[in-house]
Amino acid sequence: MIVIGGGLAGLAAGVALAESGWRVKLFELRPYLGGRATSYVLPSGEHVDNCQHVTLGCCTNLDDFYRRVGSANKVKFFDRLFFLDPQGRSGAMQAGILPAPFHMTGSFAAFAPLSLGDKLSIARAMMRILFTAGKPKEVNTPAGMSMLDWLKSQKQTPRAIERFWRVVLVSALDEELDGTDARFGIDVFWKAFLSNRTGYRMGVPAVPLAELYDGCRVAIEQKGGEVTLRAPVRGVRVEKGTIAVLQFENDREESADAYVFALPHTALANLLPPEIKSANPALASLDKIKVSPITGVHFWFDRPVTSEPFITLLDTNVQWVFNKTALYTDQSDAPVPGAQQYLQLVISASYELLKKSREEIIELCLKEIRQALPAAREGQLVKATVIKEASATFSPEPGVDRFRPAQATNTPGLFLAGDWTATGWPATMEGAVRSGYLAAEAVLRSAGSPAKFLQPDLPPTGLSKLFS
Ligand SMILES: Cc1cc2nc3c(=O)[nH]c(=O)nc-3n(C[C@H](O)[C@H](O)[C@H](O)COP(=O)(O)OP(=O)(O)OC[C@H]3O[C@@H](n4cnc5c(N)ncnc54)[C@H](O)[C@@H]3O)c2cc1C
Repeated sequence: MIVIGGGLAGLAAGVALAESGWRVKLFELRPYLGGRATSYVLPSGEHVDNCQHVTLGCCTNLDDFYRRVGSANKVKFFDRLFFLDPQGRSGAMQAGILPAPFHMTGSFAAFAPLSLGDKLSIARAMMRILFTAGKPKEVNTPAGMSMLDWLKSQKQTPRAIERFWRVVLVSALDEELDGTDARFGIDVFWKAFLSNRTGYRMGVPAVPLAELYDGCRVAIEQKGGEVTLRAPVRGVRVEKGTIAVLQFENDREESADAYVFALPHTALANLLPPEIKSANPALASLDKIKVSPITGVHFWFDRPVTSEPFITLLDTNVQWVFNKTALYTDQSDAPVPGAQQYLQLVISASYELLKKSREEIIELCLKEIRQALPAAREGQLVKATVIKEASATFSPEPGVDRFRPAQATNTPGLFLAGDWTATGWPATMEGAVRSGYLAAEAVLRSAGSPAKFLQPDLPPTGLSKLFS
């Protein structure tokens, strides 16, 4: 069994298949595992994440994956989400004593950055999501409806859209509201905020991301498999309609009974030969799946500028601030001389920043951080790094699910994984793990020994049970 790609999708498939007794050979292009959800050492010596990654309580498959590979204790979960606006008004969202779906009502009612009118309009839309268990029929068409159109149809105030829906969804889905399929947006609110008291809890890794995957190699090697890094697949030879050989550098060739291609859709489109594409009409539309950018900005200050573990900023380019100094259990990994606090800022759907220079981005973000955090006004920036990911995720645009292929294909022995395959989820670590588990299930089904890896969603609790 060969898995190509050591991102979360390939790792989830590889670990699940190894646990089922298969000898898995996993080949990864880069010198480390984790794909987009990884970390690496900069030439100047700091170990940085390829952008902060967070999970939510409703991400049941990612949670299962971290447990399987012994990393669950490397992710800290937080019950309180903290918001700050440029006027210095703050607000927190946290579950109170009421059962779902009313568990956030107390903190929502007290949330200063929104007016009563905004809150009433949000409550109305939330009721629509609740009464339909996250599946209002008006958004369920093949071409989809944009989240912005749905919010307008629910008569949301401009400030509710800007300071509530946009804040949550641009970060969760990496796209602006007018470019997001309402099904994804509504699902976020149903699964994370309405159906269950714990779905919204935010999980933040307490180690650099690459350290979450140490157990994957062990799981695969224990069953006689191999993990090979710096091993890009360069070509695929097809004979009689099936894959005969994978071609690597230095004339290396490998073959197996089954192959899981766990590559980004753009890389897969370049690698698969025409015979495979013509046998699989579902692969004809990969170029219709667009991508959207995320920019990560790393700031090292000469003094502590916040004690919050993370903050959501309202009405600014910077959407999230993560206090890595507070979040990491071990600080020795990112030693920047003279630095007392390391912050990581995230800007999703950062189309505008792609055009700006590194210096412009640093200046813009520093201004916003100094406005939001008074202690940063006196603080000196010791070091700053900008990481622009132009193709961070696939864009969840209306109707995109029509172009996402299933994990099983028409070609015997060929299986697909990747956050962009048909999982029903947007481009997330959860979506990637789901795709890997679904690919492993498809492999085992075709081998006549079916097994189940996909985990169920969190069950609706409290009064939300009445609507599911
Ligand atoms: C900046 C950024 C921030 C993000 N933030 C979050 C977040 O907070 N929460 C969240 O849930 N998700 C987040 N995501 C999305 C998440 O990272 C992805 O959805 C997920 O990691 C995708 O996993 P994957 O395995 O499908 O793809 P990838 O991670 O892209 O894995 C594909 C792998 O294939 C390898 N590969 C490519 N070509 C070849 C070849 N020819 N041969 C061998 N190997 C090859 C690549 O090197 C890569 O390792 C973020 C993504 C980015 C970029």
